[in-house]
Amino acid sequence: MSYQPTLTRYDHMSYRRSGRSGVQLPAISLGLWQNFGERDALGNCRTMLRTAFDAGITHFDLANNYGPPPGAAEETFGQLYKSDFRPYRDELFISSKAGYGMWPGPYGDGGSRKYLMASLEQSLRRMGLDYVDVFYHHRPDPDTPLEESMMALADMVRQGKALYVGLSSYNPEEIRRACALLRELGTPCLLHQPKYSLLVRDPEHGLLDALAEEGVGCIAFSALAQGVLTDKYLQGVPPDSRAARQLGNGAIEESQLNPANIEKARQLNELAQQRGQSLAQLALAWVLRDPRMTSVIIGASKPAQITDAVGSLAKADFSADELARIEEILA
Ligand code: NDP
Repeated sequence: MSYQPTLTRYDHMSYRRSGRSGVQLPAISLGLWQNFGERDALGNCRTMLRTAFDAGITHFDLANNYGPPPGAAEETFGQLYKSDFRPYRDELFISSKAGYGMWPGPYGDGGSRKYLMASLEQSLRRMGLDYVDVFYHHRPDPDTPLEESMMALADMVRQGKALYVGLSSYNPEEIRRACALLRELGTPCLLHQPKYSLLVRDPEHGLLDALAEEGVGCIAFSALAQGVLTDKYLQGVPPDSRAARQLGNGAIEESQLNPANIEKARQLNELAQQRGQSLAQLALAWVLRDPRMTSVIIGASKPAQITDAVGSLAKADFSADELARIEEILA
């Protein structure tokens, strides 16, 4: 049956401006790194995208290498875009990226113009899109002059294949250099994507300041620490969890569920219950407490996880006592 998005889809989501740009993104975005690959049931992928869009999640985050295998998430998205979302292209904000190993040989990895340009072409073809809303350099490449990578990003915008450019996992110094180059090229950086959560707080040490000064938005990934900051691992490793699936390639493994983190999660879960929310909701609200954050990209394996994430916006504020208690738990 053809998809009719709910008419109330914009009633409950909050939208935040990305840096000093004209673009607003939903506070909660959906990423397709895991669970949209070849072995994942298309029906579940479809329900997740529909659940997200119906809840006001207008931003879907992809990359060339998401799957598995690499490319599969963009293909899955392309299939569902064609069947469900094509009429809503102007309501969607779609990203892709290149920067990690994608195909063999010297032109399938890194930050060269050759790689970035070819990869965007491939991504557009897989997704069935004429353009992406933002294209990111996925990680810094010390072996390619920054000028070359930034020129490639700016040219994608000139060619109409991307509307904006973004950077991921750059450090503050690299951000400042890249932003200066992009400004000179007439395509200011829209967004930066760092890992940021209650357990990984690196962006607080200079990155968020640099982004604010440069007028660049910030969109966090792995804010749930791939599930550690939910209640799912408090009683062991459930068989349907990401840790049990042993995916490799940066995905969480059972060995990463160390007692110290589980104990933190247990105590944070108690605080979340006192606040009348789930631990996942507390973890997302906490990342979004900083007004410099534009959005947080969640991953999901089930539609209910998306609904749970959006529920975090119902109780997004923290008292000074709650923030102090969180610091105590994390210390
Ligand atoms: P999260 O930290 O949000 O982890 C997502 C996983 O946590 C889910 O797949 C699910 O795992 C579990 N989960 C989510 N919600 C709940 C819930 N309510 N209750 C219980 N468990 C829950 O993020 P990811 O690490 O997946 O990253 C999110 C997105 O960020 C990616 O899809 C990608 O778009 C982007 N990203 C970008 C990177 C970059 O280098 N720029 C790197 C990594 C991610 P389970 O399968 O166990 O149910």
